[in-house]
Amino acid sequence: MESVAVENWSAKTKLVHAGAKRSQFGELSEALYLTQGFLYESAEQAEARFIESGEDEFIYARYGNPTVRMFEERIAVLEGAEDAFATASGMAAVNGALMSLLRGGDHLVAARALFGSCLFIVEDILPRFGIEVTLVDGTDLNEWKAAVRADTKVVFLESISNPTLEVIDIKGVSEIAHAVGAVVVVDNVFATPVFQRTFDLGADVVIYSATKHIDGQGRCLGGVVLGSREFIKGPLQTYLKHTGAAMSPFNAWVMVKGLETMALRCEAQATTAAFLSEELFGHEALNRVAYPFAKDHPQQNLAKAQMERGGTVISLDIKGGKPAAFKFLNALKIVRISNNLGDAKSLVTHPATTTHQRLSDDQRAALGISDGLVRISVGLEDQHDLLADIRGALAS
Ligand SMILES: *Cc1c(COP(=O)(O)O)cnc(C)c1O
Repeated sequence: MESVAVENWSAKTKLVHAGAKRSQFGELSEALYLTQGFLYESAEQAEARFIESGEDEFIYARYGNPTVRMFEERIAVLEGAEDAFATASGMAAVNGALMSLLRGGDHLVAARALFGSCLFIVEDILPRFGIEVTLVDGTDLNEWKAAVRADTKVVFLESISNPTLEVIDIKGVSEIAHAVGAVVVVDNVFATPVFQRTFDLGADVVIYSATKHIDGQGRCLGGVVLGSREFIKGPLQTYLKHTGAAMSPFNAWVMVKGLETMALRCEAQATTAAFLSEELFGHEALNRVAYPFAKDHPQQNLAKAQMERGGTVISLDIKGGKPAAFKFLNALKIVRISNNLGDAKSLVTHPATTTHQRLSDDQRAALGISDGLVRISVGLEDQHDLLADIRGALAS
């Protein structure tokens, strides 16, 4: 197999070509190697491969597969990471990264505003293994400073919080964490791989749920952990290959093809998200429209310093609480009710009764999740159709 060289390409070119491996047939589109095992020419070759496999040499699909490898290389080249390991889902990536970095007796500091399952790992699973966890308001650097200690091994955060779209200063948090030698792990789903150079901001490990913008059409689950070769090929891969959270080759093939159109999709979705946030600003049925690049966003300057665009999600705080929010959801015709995001289809979620239902009223209040808050993942539909749909449902 022949790998394509990538040196100084721009992001869009990398997304189309990086990591492509071609068989002796010279196929144009990346091949789907739907195989769990690999044959060896001799017993000696099998022995040698189990001692150390070379680049393009595989043993078993739980450890690696050519199609999965193409996905890992393409996203690693895009991010500017030395290496990547693909996983069965975004949660497998988060769990794999944290479990391989932490030991009993270690201390973890995490932002409180986390995706529900991430919060479960941090609050419920890690403490079972003797890992001490401190949760902070991620937007307040003083809280990070006060929480981080000499035995803090990892800090963990989501770069834009779900669903309130608060922005965390990754550079600031990284400086605080690195001063005590802690590893900075960023779950970067909301900022997307297109709009933020997360490693340049100081992150050591970056995680994506590929289920979101990378697939972008709601078909497959997947995840990926990116970082130094030493970490990925060392503790991370060792943990994941023995515990079995490998990405399916079929899903990897969908994700490789998803990356080819990801920049175009994210650009179009961000353009529409910005348009909707501007057009809905000051609407009489709303307390607030939240969008990281909106002129009234309290961290607008930080968002603009960290990201090229404001992302593909907006949140609306609807006057009248849950009854008004439910009425709004039920009146939408184009925007459908679902909890995925980054999809070609615009989707709306009522976090208080779905994704964040598990939290207590106090926890939700601390996170700013009111009963009237709805999150809209902006899709690829015409922006004027979406605006008319949202305005019509607000009028109901
Ligand atoms: C969706 C999501 C996850 C989990 O990803 P899955 O692919 O559903 O396992 C983790 N973190 C964030 C921020 C997400 O949006």
